[in-house]
Amino acid sequence: MNQPKIKAFGIQHEEQGADRVTNTNALTTGCKNGAVTGASLVGMKSLKEIEEYIEQFGQDARFELSYQMSAEYLAQATPLIRGRVVSAHACCPSTEFFPNLASADPEVVAQSLADMEATLQTALEFGAKIVVLHAGYVTDLAMPSSYEARKPILARPEFIKDIRHEDGAICGPEYRLSPGYIPYAERAKERLVALARRYAKSAVRLAVENLNPRVGYLFHSPEEMLELAALDPDLWLCLDVGHLYITSFAFGFDYLEGLKTIVGSGKVASCHLHANSSRNGRYRDDHFSLEQNGFPLAEVLSIVAASEANLIVEAVEDLAGNTRIVQESMTGRRLL
Ligand SMILES: [Zn+2]
Repeated sequence: MNQPKIKAFGIQHEEQGADRVTNTNALTTGCKNGAVTGASLVGMKSLKEIEEYIEQFGQDARFELSYQMSAEYLAQATPLIRGRVVSAHACCPSTEFFPNLASADPEVVAQSLADMEATLQTALEFGAKIVVLHAGYVTDLAMPSSYEARKPILARPEFIKDIRHEDGAICGPEYRLSPGYIPYAERAKERLVALARRYAKSAVRLAVENLNPRVGYLFHSPEEMLELAALDPDLWLCLDVGHLYITSFAFGFDYLEGLKTIVGSGKVASCHLHANSSRNGRYRDDHFSLEQNGFPLAEVLSIVAASEANLIVEAVEDLAGNTRIVQESMTGRRLL
């Protein structure tokens, strides 16, 4: 395949998002439904950055643990973040491979479940009530967490053929109905239900995240999120508003209606908040600040505020400033 397509796989959530995204702090800011606002630790690469964030928000600072935190870094950060962790993004501690609950390879599934068990234990140690998960991939292979190792897998012909928009290696709305996709989605759903029930026994909500509509990824559309929400009372959702923004352009649906559809499931446990520079013909998972590029922030916040979800800033820049925007708008101290 040609170079631009392969290059397009190195898109933002992989390199900007995944490698530099921040975690959200959850602030009990008097949000009328009691949900918390916080930041993802994926964007905080040093203890100093965590300390500075806590200095700004004091008792209200809340965090989502990141899938990029090694066991060592997690141990170092523990004295700072203990008592402030509201959710964990699997896998935490970080692992060699991302979970792939869609695989037909029993070894890949067994490893994924073992990693998810470790993440559950991490959540319990920190008192986090939610674990966010990217459910899996349209492949039997284990998906390396290192971008360099992942790149050649995502450039395989079985992925390339379903690309509809080269910019970002983005699929079309028909992808989820294709014979190559369906068996993977079905296997993932079955295992998600079993895993969610296991988590529920420990009073932790397993929340599946809607992803950037990149070929090879599972679960992007409002329809799929509704299907997931209806699978089992114990299976929850993480609504990533930035990812859905990209999907709305790629699939051609009304973004705010899509948000309302997902929130209307009543199953959104957590929201990831970030913006990006996507528009028709441009598909970027930038994880930018919220007040940029015409992102309809006021409308988005008013929709997600109606849910009881935690609001986790997952931008790669200015975590404190973005947290403040969300916090102040939720408490009516800021008009957007
Ligand atoms: Zn996210």
